[in-house]
Amino acid sequence: MAQTAITQHKMFIGGRWVDPVEGDARRILNPATGETIAEVPNGTEADVDAAVQAARDAFEEWFDSTPGERSKMLLDLADRIEEHASDFVDIESRNVGKPVTMVADEEMPATVDNLRFFAAAARALEGRAAGEYMRGYTSILRREPVGVVGSIAPWNYPLMMAIWKIGPALAAGNCVVLKPSEWTPLSALRLAELAEDIFPPGVFNVVTGDGEPVGAGLVRHPGVNMVSLTGDVATGKEVARAAASTLKRVHLELGGKAPVLVFDDADVSQVVEWVKTGGYFNSGQDCTAACRVIAGPRIYDDLLSEFVPAVEQLKWGDPADPETEMGSVVSPEQLERVKGFVERARQAGATVLTGGPADDRPGYFFKPTVVTDVSQDSEIVQREVFGPVVTVQRLPSDDEAIAWANGVDYGLSASVFTRDIGRALNAARKLRFGTVWINTHILLVSEMPHGGFKQSGYGKDLSLYALEDYTEIKHVMAALD
Ligand code: NAD
Repeated sequence: MAQTAITQHKMFIGGRWVDPVEGDARRILNPATGETIAEVPNGTEADVDAAVQAARDAFEEWFDSTPGERSKMLLDLADRIEEHASDFVDIESRNVGKPVTMVADEEMPATVDNLRFFAAAARALEGRAAGEYMRGYTSILRREPVGVVGSIAPWNYPLMMAIWKIGPALAAGNCVVLKPSEWTPLSALRLAELAEDIFPPGVFNVVTGDGEPVGAGLVRHPGVNMVSLTGDVATGKEVARAAASTLKRVHLELGGKAPVLVFDDADVSQVVEWVKTGGYFNSGQDCTAACRVIAGPRIYDDLLSEFVPAVEQLKWGDPADPETEMGSVVSPEQLERVKGFVERARQAGATVLTGGPADDRPGYFFKPTVVTDVSQDSEIVQREVFGPVVTVQRLPSDDEAIAWANGVDYGLSASVFTRDIGRALNAARKLRFGTVWINTHILLVSEMPHGGFKQSGYGKDLSLYALEDYTEIKHVMAALD
């Protein structure tokens, strides 16, 4: 069998490709085969320091750039990503175990659209009003960049999450030091290659390495004005604690445990279609995954009898096969995590109706799984599994619906399925989640905000709200004579 070529990489700091000051290299895996596909620098705090310094130096001039200039650069980058979409399909598929068709048809068009939205939004930033609020004095509102932003990304959508971070930050006039996940840095490095001659040196930097010291180093660094993290709730708490010592602004997009509230009058086929899509997309490694179905007492049996065979039909396996709908999970650690959740649930009395580990092949695969007989306070209902596992709970009556749906620490997204518009809108009002879908799930658009309530974090991604999050508002007051 032919040996896979192992690519060697550097970090992108101050417009140049550099070796780490003192760090070694980390092996990057293809989780669908277990093979090493690349070696990437394991950065240290010295590299963070160099990148922050480069970003600070660049900020001096970048501060004078106009929204129109920044918009043009972001549009150029979007065009390049689109032109080179097949590179990213290959990278994301081989580094994350994603099906090639999913990346090509879903992630790439969305990613390019997200960036084009931020390019356009750069020119639409405004203050609410300027005028004379005290006789003899004019007040002016300015929206200014925060400065240097440390952007810390997760592994589940490496390119898309990088774009969600750098898009609004650069559009608003900040300089960025991006730290991709230590497991999936390859698309961020390819992105830097495409961006290399678009932005002035130092405006966009990529430092690779572990959460500690690189991510945490950005959070500690006095030269970083804001940190934006997409990651686990525990990481978010750690970042918020550490950021307090320099009081830097923190933007946190954290985990989720999305309820799918199915009332008895719902269209069963519609629910099955959306949970099959939303529960297993990206192997369930999605913060908005439709992972927690809560069904009315009368629809529960019908739903399961249609849902389980539908899940069993999902084509999972080799991500490079264009027919594959679900690939591997991201790493051996993640596979163990998912196995552990399902095994502990089983030991506590849950029924695994279909799915489970797929240990009979190389790589890190877990079959599309459906678990029932789980109580509201069980671990598998309360904690984010982040794998292809959907639980289905039966409601004693409608009265418990909202309490069960809201009864977790997370608050990122939820969906409600019913044919009754009043019931749907009432549920949408009461559900404590940043996004509520009605008769659908998992869909996002560039123009609308994405972000959490409760322990799913604070700050919004996408939309003009994200752009505002990356700005400071300044009041300038001038005496008229
Ligand atoms: P993670 O928290 O383990 O890592 C996220 C990033 O933080 C990585 O780059 C990591 O190196 C870095 N990091 C780790 N410890 C750090 C520290 N102490 N200081 C600074 N940085 C640190 O998360 P993950 O496993 O990569 O991603 C999965 C998580 O991300 C899930 O919980 C998922 O729900 C969440 N997520 C949320 C959204 C959203 O929009 N809310 C989107 C995607 C993923």
